[in-house]
Amino acid sequence: MSKYWNQRTRALSPYIPGEQPRERKFIKLNTNENPYPPSPEVIAAIRNAANDDLCLYPDPECLELRTAIARRYALTPEQVFVGNGSDEILAFAFAAFFENGAVALPVLFPDITYSFYPVYARLWGTPFELVPLRDDFSLSIDDYDRPNGGVVIANPNAPTGCVLRLEDARLLVEQQTVYGRIALFDEAYMAFASEPGSLVGYINEYPNLLTVHTLSKAASLAGLRVGYAIAHAELIEGLRRVRDSFNSYTLDRLALAGATAAIRHSAYYDDCDRRIIATRKRVSTQLAALGFEFVPSSANFIFTRHPAIKGSALFEALRERGILTRRWDVSRIADYLRVSIGTDADMDAFLAVCADIACV
Ligand SMILES: *Cc1c(COP(=O)(O)O)cnc(C)c1O
Repeated sequence: MSKYWNQRTRALSPYIPGEQPRERKFIKLNTNENPYPPSPEVIAAIRNAANDDLCLYPDPECLELRTAIARRYALTPEQVFVGNGSDEILAFAFAAFFENGAVALPVLFPDITYSFYPVYARLWGTPFELVPLRDDFSLSIDDYDRPNGGVVIANPNAPTGCVLRLEDARLLVEQQTVYGRIALFDEAYMAFASEPGSLVGYINEYPNLLTVHTLSKAASLAGLRVGYAIAHAELIEGLRRVRDSFNSYTLDRLALAGATAAIRHSAYYDDCDRRIIATRKRVSTQLAALGFEFVPSSANFIFTRHPAIKGSALFEALRERGILTRRWDVSRIADYLRVSIGTDADMDAFLAVCADIACV
């Protein structure tokens, strides 16, 4: 705390990212990174972009990347926004579409979801209300059927891994139309879902729908910081207005080159993601055999607890044996760990420790 901080800075409660150890001595199952490397085409494109042109600003329109994304979904570039990670896009979206101040209706999101949402709401002074998930961590859209300032849903949800069925997701967007507000769907983990659940295909139908995506998880590019949003052109224009009041060049030349190559060569990732899904199934079966409990995951992580072991003890025991996982000291989920799906070798090491702990 400094006396030079303004009131806004004093009131902030920043997001706490998962630990990024400087040495590679841990098996990292704590921040949902993809254990597989980016495709060779991505590395080549970034190398190729590391040239004298770096003395020039990048394209503020990011047109090549937006065109590649638009093509993938049979949309137009005007329906695509790109940002420095989807976190940045989420921050812009809160600023662009949600009202602030005491008289504004609250934005609704689940009590257990991506913990960045309340941080953005507080940053912009947007009132929000946490809507409790059901006991099994499922989401009932009826709980959102009331006047609100907007709805934000991570689908599949983090850290639970639960997916909202496509019919329900659509009904929620339609419900929001009645209240004249946005439905923001954060689809960071959709590539790992067991059934198709993305709303991207409905963008032309719903002018109040914004879907947000990231290359950090499914495309193995957490280190490049690229995300994108898909929506009606008017919503995309709203995001641009916020961005251009802040920083017109949020994506650098290397990121643009790497991300464009990633989108064009997505078959590579589809293959990696299939392997992750297969590993998740195997680990789920083995965890169940050890007495661990979890809801079936549609993401690249498993949210799990053991009925006889405290979450803090489990977390520490794994950490001591070189395995990092993620845990929140929040009453409803304090005994749960979120365990990212690594390579098969990573997960064998994880399961070996779990077997040891569960048998004591
Ligand atoms: C990881 C994650 C993000 C952030 O993605 P970046 O593109 O790396 O900023 C956004 N939303 C959810 C739900 C996530 O888990």
